[in-house]
Amino acid sequence: MARYTDAVCRLCRREGQKLFLKGDRCYTEKCGLARHGYAPGQHGQGRTKASEYGTQLREKQKTKRYYGLLESQFRSYFDKASRQKGQTGENLLSILESRLDNAVYRSGFAMSRPEARQLVNHGHFTVNGKKVNIPSFLVKPGMVIALKDSSRSIDKLKNSIEANASRHTPKWLEFDREQYQAKVIGVPLKEDIDLPIEEHLIVELYSK
Ligand code: SF4
Repeated sequence: MARYTDAVCRLCRREGQKLFLKGDRCYTEKCGLARHGYAPGQHGQGRTKASEYGTQLREKQKTKRYYGLLESQFRSYFDKASRQKGQTGENLLSILESRLDNAVYRSGFAMSRPEARQLVNHGHFTVNGKKVNIPSFLVKPGMVIALKDSSRSIDKLKNSIEANASRHTPKWLEFDREQYQAKVIGVPLKEDIDLPIEEHLIVELYSK
């Protein structure tokens, strides 16, 4: 799967808000957005008010970037969400949150979504006892995400779990720190999502 490989702080600067893509650094004064609070590029400091289309586009781009997705994958999630019962925007958020890399991050195994994706890619997790190294794998209620026994001594992972001990675990996940595992106990709902996303703008954009 292709992915964005340019400097990630530029993405936050482009969206004008923190996307929390670099873990610890995002909470320090080294944060790229804190140091350069304007969009990147030659005209970054001269941008004017966005049009309706521009606002919708930015909301979609921002959401895509939160979850580290490229356009084709994001669009396929939208299409899937629109085929489900209920509100398309809320279905979309639920699908995005259900990605394994996001569930690993929200459980507290990683400091950021990109870090969680890398950990999944490197095969550190099992789902229901079987190794799963596909970040886009969608978790469902009843599934158990666990850190492999052989990965439990990795300092980076231990430090992340320790540092995230006070972080709020969403209602749809139950994290057992002693067992290095998280159980999916529900479907992620809009109110469980910790990101300021106005999903109706994305629906409006794709409905044009
Ligand atoms: Fe965004 Fe984090 Fe970079 Fe700050 S440090 S600009 S929040 S990725």
